[in-house]
Amino acid sequence: MDSANAPRAGETVQTTGGRADAGAPAAGDLVVARPEGLYCPPGDFYIDPWRPVDRAVITHGHSDHARVGHAHYLAQHDSAAILRRRLGDDITLQTLAYGEAIVHHGVRLSLHPAGHVLGSAQVRLEHGGRVWVASGDYKLEADGTNAPFEPVRCDTFITESTFGLPIYRWPSQPALFAEINDWWRRNAEAGRASVLYAYALGKAQRLLHGVDASIGPIVAHGAVEPLNAVYRAAGVRLPPTFNAGDPALDKAALSRALVIAPPSAASSPWLKRFGPDLADAFASGWMQLRGTRRRRGVDRGFVVSDHADWPGLMAAIRGTGAERVFVTHGSVATMVRWLGEQGLRAQGFATEYGDEEAAGDTAAGDTAPGDAAGGDAPASPSEPAQ
Ligand SMILES: [Zn+2]
Ligand SMILES: [Zn+2]
Repeated sequence: MDSANAPRAGETVQTTGGRADAGAPAAGDLVVARPEGLYCPPGDFYIDPWRPVDRAVITHGHSDHARVGHAHYLAQHDSAAILRRRLGDDITLQTLAYGEAIVHHGVRLSLHPAGHVLGSAQVRLEHGGRVWVASGDYKLEADGTNAPFEPVRCDTFITESTFGLPIYRWPSQPALFAEINDWWRRNAEAGRASVLYAYALGKAQRLLHGVDASIGPIVAHGAVEPLNAVYRAAGVRLPPTFNAGDPALDKAALSRALVIAPPSAASSPWLKRFGPDLADAFASGWMQLRGTRRRRGVDRGFVVSDHADWPGLMAAIRGTGAERVFVTHGSVATMVRWLGEQGLRAQGFATEYGDEEAAGDTAAGDTAPGDAAGGDAPASPSEPAQ
């Protein structure tokens, strides 16, 4: 969506459709902002609450959306192993297939693919003739590691806005992997290991699924491999991965290896085994910004995100047919203003969702109970932290 009026990075905006921390409920709203999280009054449950509640509907397993301490969890089937691993085997968890509906206090609830990570879902709520959809996090282009995003018609859509600025436009999957494979191949030919930093849940598996495994062996960090196992068990095809200490990997093999590790491994002794001459790169949507790449101090940045880019956000919002849009975590003020200019009723919801793209925490994808997302979040340089 190109337009002379499109907001630019760094621009300060005055919102007209409501402040980012607005969200004053209108009578009959199916979702309202409460201190515990996004709440459905007629259904008496929360969506991705950040404080402990009785009933939580969880859109996906990232640590800022799926938190410890709720009495009852509801999520998509494929999230079960991730949630139990992260929150404990003993959580009370009910799961639904995509499209399967339940009725709770008269609210008909169903989960629909969000294309973000394994088991990620949009939450559709229907009550009194109204339909609301809460997106959680989502991405439009299919990547082969989870069910592709499906647009769901609704009156009111609650969208994330992690990359809600027109500068964010992702390369296609084929273009992205041509670039990554080319980098890995050239490093391997030069006898240098290729270390690719990526978030442990979702991003790492997506990279594994897409790279050309014939170039060399692939090493997965200890924070990544347990999640690989979850994906494989769900039927996602991933190439074989080695443990860094595997005796099958001699020095020659290591010098041709692709190493997938969480960002925090960058400064850890674990990395030393790959030699002083390794090449490193960071895989994140933030890599579209040159400054972010510099701050990371890595050789390369690959622009790869499990969130929608600007055209994706716009296409998703249009695809719902919604007249009213709530914007959560990310470029809230910018998106609210932009959507208002497109004739939609838009306002922000203040939430406590973070940004797994920016998480620098080793265990970010595989946290112990109670861990929050976060770390050395660069956030979008143009946006205040939400
Ligand atoms: Zn997420
Ligand atoms: Zn999120």
